[in-house]
Amino acid sequence: MGPIGGRTRVEGNDHHRMAPTRGAPRTPGRESALLLLGIDVGGTKIATSLGDEHGHVLASRVRPTEPSGDSLKDLSRIAGELRELIEAEGRTLSEVDGVGVSLPGPLDREGGRVLNPPNLPGWHRAPVRDALQEALGVPVAIDNDANAATLAEWRFGAARGYQHVVFLTMSTGVGGGMVLGGRLHRGVASSAGEVGHMPIEWDGAPCPCGLRGCLEAYIGGAAWARRLAEVTPAGSGVAERAGSSPPRPEHVVEAAREGDAFALAELERFNGYLARAIVHLTFVLAPQVFVLGTIVRAAGPLCLDPVRALVRDHVWDFLGRDLAIVAGELGPRLPELAGLGVASDAFANASDPE
Ligand SMILES: [Zn+2]
Repeated sequence: MGPIGGRTRVEGNDHHRMAPTRGAPRTPGRESALLLLGIDVGGTKIATSLGDEHGHVLASRVRPTEPSGDSLKDLSRIAGELRELIEAEGRTLSEVDGVGVSLPGPLDREGGRVLNPPNLPGWHRAPVRDALQEALGVPVAIDNDANAATLAEWRFGAARGYQHVVFLTMSTGVGGGMVLGGRLHRGVASSAGEVGHMPIEWDGAPCPCGLRGCLEAYIGGAAWARRLAEVTPAGSGVAERAGSSPPRPEHVVEAAREGDAFALAELERFNGYLARAIVHLTFVLAPQVFVLGTIVRAAGPLCLDPVRALVRDHVWDFLGRDLAIVAGELGPRLPELAGLGVASDAFANASDPE
């Protein structure tokens, strides 16, 4: 390891770089060497956490997002909450090495700004990095939520220790991120990993992004819920579980566990499309592990077993033989760990010279 804060591979200007601002150089691998803050700005909730680069969380809080319509006001409120969080633990801001922020994408990562998050009125081009850096006096790194979740699962969760990782999550949409050769791969405009918009059926179902046949239009939670509203038979286990509310993918998972034929057919369709995407990505990236969140995490073997079998049957043996396809480990802990993942990764890169 070279001098901390020396030449690094983190793109951008000096002030983008997260490096210790005080104290002696730290030793990687030393337990709890760094004190980090994490922020996860979601459409409905904001999570803040205090922890270290190994994902040990000392304290965390979650509250409704409640955007005021003025991003600077909202960011100053978040900075105030971080101060309270630290003080409640008997620590001070001057002990904190860095802050990581997970934000709804897409972002202008170079400029440290969020672009136009639909659920955050007043946040168009909000200068998240600089506003927090100024308020806290601590280096701040930002990334989009899919990359942040990828970093968290890689550094703290199911993909620990791997060098080539693909993370896929099927919540409202389909998000993804990838670590290649031990580095998060961002691509142009930090847009690598937009797996949800790979065409999985040429000229297929319309997607809200404007294209057709996107993976998200088949296995994204919102698209699947729209389909379920149309095709769920009355009297099926799915309809029973949904009751008076519209049927949702989680009702499919619950009903499939009880052997409901319609639910099992729906899951088979989901697994088929998911496996197709994994096969494409395997030939392109040759990863060691796919980490699958949300629905797959909830369904467990009902998804994992058939997807593993389909993928094995459709890739070359040497690509599929040792390929791990696993459920995410962090699940409900992602909000408190996503920001810490970003901070931890920025810190690792800042102390890893070319
Ligand atoms: Zn799309």
